[in-house]
Amino acid sequence: MQKVIVAGGAGFIGSYICRQLLEKGYLVVCIDNFITGDKKNIEDLDKNNNFHLLDHDLATEIPPSDLLNNISYIFHLASPASPNKKSKRSYINFPIETLLVNSVGSYNLLMLAKSQNARFLFASSSEIYGDPEVSPQTEDYFGNVNSRGIRSVYDEGKRFGEAITTAFFRKHNMDTRIVRIFNTYGPRMQIDDGRVVSNFINQALRNEPITVYGAGMQTRSFCYITDLVNGLLKLMFIDNLNGEVINLGNPDERNIVDVARFIKNKIESSSEIIFETLPEDDPKKRKPDISKAKKLLDWKPEVSFEDGLEKTIEYFKIQK
Ligand code: NAD
Ligand code: UDP
Repeated sequence: MQKVIVAGGAGFIGSYICRQLLEKGYLVVCIDNFITGDKKNIEDLDKNNNFHLLDHDLATEIPPSDLLNNISYIFHLASPASPNKKSKRSYINFPIETLLVNSVGSYNLLMLAKSQNARFLFASSSEIYGDPEVSPQTEDYFGNVNSRGIRSVYDEGKRFGEAITTAFFRKHNMDTRIVRIFNTYGPRMQIDDGRVVSNFINQALRNEPITVYGAGMQTRSFCYITDLVNGLLKLMFIDNLNGEVINLGNPDERNIVDVARFIKNKIESSSEIIFETLPEDDPKKRKPDISKAKKLLDWKPEVSFEDGLEKTIEYFKIQK
């Protein structure tokens, strides 16, 4: 039985990866310190004999453990991911932790991968493109990032993560892959993460004002979680992709005020749409070019925004 490490496995995306891997017959070791993740995301997995949890901060040295022998694959998904400082889970409120898990944490996991001759996948982000001057964003675009801005702990953390992953690939000839994930949503996303989809659904369900930041003309492209997870598994398990970097996201680009209207209508909410200050360095547009994923992974998203939102809204309705 092959063993897979899922760093950040108690998070939104990581908990899907853990489940899929268990279904496919892998032995899964989840490493998480629950800084933004949730025990309830994985509590049903505890009963599975092929699932193990290591409660550990990856920014500190990984302690020796029998669980960490004979590893075949490592997913590095551990990092706070929300930019909204109003949320207790936001990377803005964990600036040093975010830098460290993407830098020292990446180093620790790469060293583990090297010692085990394991394949390593680093979860980067569309944020490495910053406030992009080209659209859609292709993998060869270098980005436009403010190295000292409020979002820099995340953007530069991810850029460092990409750099060190590539350095291990070049220097040690390791089998590494980098994914640049674009905005992803769906059931089991943190309902209090302050991100746009969760905020708008919560507000609309409670008939409270829907808070659009700025004029709402900035765009995002939203990918449903199961589509993203299918892409991530392909990127990890297809051979001969050593050293690759690939965008995964849904190119269905929408502006934020339209998203507010869409969610309000879908929920048949009486919320009014209000406009608040746009946060510093908020990217004006974001849309993935997914030609590379189509070609190398034979992957494209299948779930429409409408269908994905329906499932997400149902999930939010049953949360307390
Ligand atoms: P999440 O916050 O739900 O999950 C991240 C997990 O990592 C959490 O369980 C958290 O506790 C864990 N973690 C963080 N720091 C840690 C540390 N030092 N040691 C151990 N565990 C630690 O976020 P997510 O949305 O599931 O994101 C997963 C990955 O995908 C992240 O690397 C994120 O940057 C990336 N990503 C996500 C999105 C998105 O839209 N959700 C977009 C781009 C990139
Ligand atoms: N946003 C908004 N209202 C909210 C939360 C977010 O208008 O209550 C905007 C935010 O300013 C950004 C977009 O929605 O332009 C997406 O924000 P999110 O926090 O989901 O992540 P980002 O894509 O910025 O990393």
